[in-house]
Amino acid sequence: MNRTLAAIKVENDVLAHNYHPLPVVIESARGAWVVDVDGKRYLDCLAGYSALNFGHGHPALLAAARAQLDRATLTSRAFHNDRLGPFAAKLADLCGMQMVLPMNTGAEAVETGVKVARRWAYEVKGVPADTAEIVVAAGNFHGRTTTVVSFSTDEQARAGFGPFTPGFTVVPYDDLDALDAAVGERTAAVLVEPIQGEAGVVVPSAGYLAGVRRICDDRRALFVADEIQSGLGRTGATFACELAGVRPDVYLLGKALGGGVVPVSAVVSNREVLGLIGPGEHGSTFGGNPLAAAVGTAVVDLLATGEYQAAARRIGAVLHDGLRALLGRGVTAVRGVGAWAGVDIDPAVGTGRQVCEALAERGVLVKDTHGSTIRLAPPLVATDDEIGWALARLREVLAAR
Ligand code: PLP
Repeated sequence: MNRTLAAIKVENDVLAHNYHPLPVVIESARGAWVVDVDGKRYLDCLAGYSALNFGHGHPALLAAARAQLDRATLTSRAFHNDRLGPFAAKLADLCGMQMVLPMNTGAEAVETGVKVARRWAYEVKGVPADTAEIVVAAGNFHGRTTTVVSFSTDEQARAGFGPFTPGFTVVPYDDLDALDAAVGERTAAVLVEPIQGEAGVVVPSAGYLAGVRRICDDRRALFVADEIQSGLGRTGATFACELAGVRPDVYLLGKALGGGVVPVSAVVSNREVLGLIGPGEHGSTFGGNPLAAAVGTAVVDLLATGEYQAAARRIGAVLHDGLRALLGRGVTAVRGVGAWAGVDIDPAVGTGRQVCEALAERGVLVKDTHGSTIRLAPPLVATDDEIGWALARLREVLAAR
């Protein structure tokens, strides 16, 4: 048995089978490339579902982590630490907002956003106790916790996990009439992904996010933008909301905020919202730890240069041109913006999974979603040549089937 098969066997024996990974066992990674236990190299075109926007092992992020490892890694919020305040100040500034509530994972940021919006509804909007509603969009993906799957429309994510948390109304995505009808006096917030990632990189119509903003303003509801996957450079802007020229009331951030080094997430908003949370009402042992804050600060510094947003635009031009050229040649639709694409594979050619497996054999890592879609989100350090090389492999795979 080769080392890859041996490693997969160990995982299969002892891990819950809550994922169906491609048969690639990564041993090391740098920049846009990873190497498996048998020494084979792959171009990473998934980038940890956008957690690795800056590539694997970015020198500035590793330097920040290494320096902090020798100082202090965890204090808990029972005490202050000298890294958290400066991180929060820089992050708030990047978002053009005033306050930050640090957590660790994306789902925790979403849970926190839900709690904060409910608190705002009761204390500021005057919604009667325990009746607040949050309006969400069909096809959403906001994480895997019990409350978060309560408002998922993916039966696989919910089946066998009830009872669910009440207080959510689901409307179709990209449908302002439905949203308009659903937002009312008890609505605390509208929670949407500016671009739906897991759904297959679904970009809403021009005017949708501005419409969400308008409805929230008219009905006095918070606009909560889940930018956990779309934010922090991926789309060619710091936030996908920026591309639509809108500012939400609350940003939910995660993934790339930890630079692929440590889990870091955050809710970022203004004092009117985050100022409503007091001691003992919400928290996390690891949220805001100095190691996370040190890496998060380095991430914000990278984003402040604008270099990575520019790289996403450059990569996006090559990627989307190349993908569009495959329409009718094994590809039925291409969606996305910046260095982010959802590609629907013609069922006559095969499933998304089969295409991903064939690409992995040729040294390109991507992942399927919803059966027939593959998602590309290369690290923003990938060169045009590397993207062109990955596209050529995809062309080969589609032609060979
Ligand atoms: N929100 C969005 C938009 C996501 O894409 C994800 C993860 O894919 C999450 C939330 C959940 O993040 P995590 O897996 O870190 O809990």
